[in-house]
Amino acid sequence: MSNSQDEPITLSNIFFNKDGKFCLPCTAYRGFEYITTEMTNRYQLYKDTKLETPTTVKTASIVKQESAVPKTITVGNNEMIPGSRTYVKEDPPDVQKLGASSWTFLHAMAAKYPTEPSQTEKEDMTEFLKLFSHVYPCNWCAMDFEKYITKYSPRVESKEELSRWMCEAHNHVNVKLGKPKFNCDFWQQRWKDGWDE
Ligand SMILES: Cc1cc2nc3c(=O)[nH]c(=O)nc-3n(C[C@H](O)[C@H](O)[C@H](O)COP(=O)(O)OP(=O)(O)OC[C@H]3O[C@@H](n4cnc5c(N)ncnc54)[C@H](O)[C@@H]3O)c2cc1C
Repeated sequence: MSNSQDEPITLSNIFFNKDGKFCLPCTAYRGFEYITTEMTNRYQLYKDTKLETPTTVKTASIVKQESAVPKTITVGNNEMIPGSRTYVKEDPPDVQKLGASSWTFLHAMAAKYPTEPSQTEKEDMTEFLKLFSHVYPCNWCAMDFEKYITKYSPRVESKEELSRWMCEAHNHVNVKLGKPKFNCDFWQQRWKDGWDE
C-alpha cells in the first residue's frame, strides 16, 4: 500500500499509487487519512485563531472553553470584535444614528402599509405607533413624539394617508431641530418607488 509519510496527501494520490495505477486498498485507506488530516488541520486553525467558523455548535463550545481571551484582528482600518472576522467594533448608536435608522423603518413601514387596510390592520398600526412612542430609546424624543401622536392621531385609513402623516410627524421634528421641511409630495419617490422613471 502506498503510504509514504513524507508524501503529501492529495486528492489524486488518494486514488492512484506511486506508479500511477488505480489502487483500491490505497483509495480506502488514503481517503480516510485525507479526511481526518483535513479535519485536524481545520480544527487546529480554528483553535489557533479563535475565529468564527461554520463548525458545529458542539465543536465551537469546546473551543470557547479553551480560549479565555480571543485574539483581536484588524481588517483594513477596522478593528474587529474579538473572536469575529465579520463584525467591526462599533459604538452604540447616538441620537442621530438612531433617529435616521428609525425614520427609515417608520417611512418604509408606512410605504408597505395596505392601500385598503382592514379594521384590524388599522388598529394594529395605531397601537404600534402608540407603543413605539413609549419605548423609543431616546427619552425626550419619545415624550415629544407621544405628545404629537396624542395631538395628531395617526391617519391609518390608507397607505397614502399614513405615509403623509409620517412625513408630517418627521417634519415636526425637523422644524424643532432647525432643519428644512421635506416636501411630502415626494414621499413615494423617497420611500416607495425611487426617483427613476
Ligand atoms: C420619533 C423620533 C423622534 C425624534 N426626536 C428627536 C428629538 O426630539 N431631538 C433630536 O435631536 N432628534 C430626534 N430624532 C432624530 C432626528 O429626527 C434625526 O433622525 C437625526 O437628527 C438625524 O438626522 P438626519 O439628518 O440623519 O436625517 P433624518 O431626519 O433622520 O432623515 C433621514 C432621511 O429621511 C428623509 N426625510 C427627512 N425628512 C423627511 C420627512 N418629513 N418625510 C419623509 N422623509 C424625510 C431624508 O431623505 C433624510 O435624509 C427623532 C427621531 C425619531 C424617529
